[in-house]
Amino acid sequence: MANIKKIQRKLNKKFDGRVQAVLEDGIIRLTGELDNWDDVVTAGETAATKNSLVHVVNDIKFTGGEIPPMRVPSLRDNAVNGKTPDVLIIGGGITGCAIARELSKWEMNVMLIEKNADFAMGASGANDGEVHVGIDLKKGSLKQKYVLLGNAMYDKFCSDLDVPFRRPGQYILFTQLWLLIPIFFFYIRRKYIDGVKSSRFMWGSKIKREQPTFDKKIKFGIYNDNAGVVCSYGLTIACAENAAENGVEAYLNTAVLSMDTNDSGNIIAVHTNRGTIKPTIVINAAGVFADDIAEMAHDRFYSIHPRRGTNAIQDTKSANIIDCIASIEHAGIGSFRSKTKGGGIMRTVDDNVLVGPDAVECFDKEDTSTYPESLKTTYTKQKGTVPAASERDIITYFTGIRAATFEEDFVLEWGRKCPNMFHCGGIQSPGLTAAPAIAADVEKIIVDRLSKKREILQKKKWTPVRRGVPRLKEMIPARRSAMIARNPDYGIIVCRCEEISKGEIIDCLERPLCPPTVDAVKKRIRPGMGRCQGGFCQPLVAQIIAEHENIDISEVRKASAEAVILYGENKGGAEE
Ligand SMILES: Cc1cc2nc3c(=O)[nH]c(=O)nc-3n(C[C@H](O)[C@H](O)[C@H](O)COP(=O)(O)OP(=O)(O)OC[C@H]3O[C@@H](n4cnc5c(N)ncnc54)[C@H](O)[C@@H]3O)c2cc1C
Repeated sequence: MANIKKIQRKLNKKFDGRVQAVLEDGIIRLTGELDNWDDVVTAGETAATKNSLVHVVNDIKFTGGEIPPMRVPSLRDNAVNGKTPDVLIIGGGITGCAIARELSKWEMNVMLIEKNADFAMGASGANDGEVHVGIDLKKGSLKQKYVLLGNAMYDKFCSDLDVPFRRPGQYILFTQLWLLIPIFFFYIRRKYIDGVKSSRFMWGSKIKREQPTFDKKIKFGIYNDNAGVVCSYGLTIACAENAAENGVEAYLNTAVLSMDTNDSGNIIAVHTNRGTIKPTIVINAAGVFADDIAEMAHDRFYSIHPRRGTNAIQDTKSANIIDCIASIEHAGIGSFRSKTKGGGIMRTVDDNVLVGPDAVECFDKEDTSTYPESLKTTYTKQKGTVPAASERDIITYFTGIRAATFEEDFVLEWGRKCPNMFHCGGIQSPGLTAAPAIAADVEKIIVDRLSKKREILQKKKWTPVRRGVPRLKEMIPARRSAMIARNPDYGIIVCRCEEISKGEIIDCLERPLCPPTVDAVKKRIRPGMGRCQGGFCQPLVAQIIAEHENIDISEVRKASAEAVILYGENKGGAEE
């Protein structure tokens, strides 16, 4: 249990009595007022104990800015009103979608709701796509447990879902010889005691032979050959599609706004912008909003403090500078066990080069703005790994928000005051890696709970296999010709950078759960992901969507209902 007097002493030292800590129902609750967000976060970190079950709930009032409310879709209808699913999953990121897929095996009604206009619009759509090995994670943490299990599941997970996956391996590199002894002992402990078995120690000379583009100053490193790369949004969407094919009801643009609970604390109604749902069990997989969802059920026993991370994507033409995942560590063990895991540079599964991310605490849970300092920080660091990394090759950048708890671990447990809510909270990095293992465990827990009420049988017709849209670019010439002969739209190239045909776009629009928007098509099959970033193909994609949906092109949206692309004719149209 936490020593609250000691915590208060530490807080007094840092904040002169402006922050108070109390121990309440097994959680440490902080109150007070601070005008600097970094101080609010520091207070939470100061109060966090090694016992990751005693969470910090940070109720310190931030007076230095206005924390914006959660963004809610403008749509209002009754599409989900009166539904009574056995299981309601809140959040269409990788956690929610992977759980939906696992639960779709069973004879039960599963419903998945997502507030955004597509799946993978939170952290699952804005991360590095690295399948981690867990070398930097604390033994005994939930993160370590699920990352080791999840990593091992990835080959089958991705092949069942027809999602490209590779294991190019990861180098953690050091330039300071004085770190040799501590890092060597660290490596021995991780490999032989903590279960990160694939790790290998390497001298700089061997690393340079294997990776000639790495910086010459590298003295030694640790190599993990089972680190992998995957497209995280492609995988999330594949899980959602497979879940839907197996009977899960999924609703986009559906935000949970409030909940009603009964005297025993159970949720009896979930109110959304599209009506009220009355589920038996609720799974909270709401990413950065998981603590807000917990609060709606009067069950907030942890706090999420958003942590922004920015990545840059370089053109595929620079792919020859790296064929793996790598990062340089200047400050020793502390640095590569830090919250960012040091960022890095890697060849993505789609053969771009990704540089980043950094880690910046922020108070707005949806502030995905990208700041030049972030790119500067990551490039300055990663040029020390691969000197040829160049900002001139950047074709785009993006920012994602990590859902960190103050204990820096996942929260995977039933509600403490709300018995019918299961929390998947604090699923920050490496939550993508952990997702298949988390989903498999949550499946067992949910089936076990529902089986106490009635018999739950496995579906006879469940299929874990999903086939994506055929990828013309990857076909051998004979298959290409056959495909084009069968469907001439496959012979019309729309996106020249990524070689995507009209046939693929139409097939994509006909798949389950594909919103008819430019970004939804882009995320699924990549038109607009190349060097021109849609400059050439976006109007063509919009035109194909308009024809397919039988709407005017001006009605085609970029991502959500609010994201208008065409506002009207310019220069008076085509008049001469
Ligand atoms: C910059 C960055 C880099 C990362 N790199 C890696 C990596 O290389 N490898 C790795 O393993 N992990 C990585 N991660 C972590 C990984 O991305 C996350 O752990 C994972 O995506 C979390 O998935 P999730 O489904 O729990 O959350 P999310 O993907 O955030 O999904 C939660 C969903 O819930 C929805 N939601 C929220 N509130 C409501 C509501 N009220 N009603 C309805 N829906 C709601 C949100 O819109 C969102 O779509 C990284 C994260 C970041 C930010």
